[in-house]
Amino acid sequence: MENREAPVTQNSNQAAVEIPTCPKCEKRLELCFCAELPEPSKTKLDILILQHPQEPDTELGSARLAQIQLSKARLNVGLSWPNLTRAWQGKEREEIPALQPKDWVCIYLGNAGDLKKKINFPIQESIPKGGEEIIFVDKKGNPLYDQAEARAGIKGIILLDGTWSQAKTLWWRNAWMLKCRRAALLPKSASLYGTMRKEPRKECLSTIESVALAFDSLGEKSEIGNQLRSSFRKLLQKARDDRRLRSDRPEQKKQETQKD
Ligand SMILES: [Zn+2]
Repeated sequence: MENREAPVTQNSNQAAVEIPTCPKCEKRLELCFCAELPEPSKTKLDILILQHPQEPDTELGSARLAQIQLSKARLNVGLSWPNLTRAWQGKEREEIPALQPKDWVCIYLGNAGDLKKKINFPIQESIPKGGEEIIFVDKKGNPLYDQAEARAGIKGIILLDGTWSQAKTLWWRNAWMLKCRRAALLPKSASLYGTMRKEPRKECLSTIESVALAFDSLGEKSEIGNQLRSSFRKLLQKARDDRRLRSDRPEQKKQETQKD
């Protein structure tokens, strides 16, 4: 697990106050529900989440929540790694056989709307049943002709966690990603975020929803994706309750009255 500093805020006396966070999910204790999570799910595919160091969302960020629920998931924070094996190792640096980028798929940042238009009938026919929400693309971002072949022998998934521009930085800083297969997600339903977070496009899912969708579409058991989504729903509920509580706090109300 990465060592990240606990978020620091300023109180009215301008002194930095450390907010206690859970070492497992790295959320404020009010948002933590680690004790309620089941044992990590066993998946066939590995998943590597690479997080930009400035990924700012300590409240609704969901990458860590996904990672702690999966037996073969890693979350590493950084900007660049010399190759896939080192990216997987992160700070652990355990001895492992070299990972082959050609066996991994990087979830590519493309324009889903444009991509949809390019999926013609023969391509549609080649998509394995239940796999319609992930489309494998070539280096130009065009859908590959044989979607079944594109998925054959796949061992792992790489997801970039951060805002669009942070994810783009990660993409450009890690040249080895060019050797990975590429795929774009085409979610049928909008993110569970709803109005809680402004997303630039409908297809912008949270990281945990992207993990769930990629697993569903690549043949993992549906319970795994469902568990991830249900935990995300729970996080959103906790965050909503927390926001409500904070806005009801007497100190804040007092301050507001004083302003009047
Ligand atoms: Zn926790």
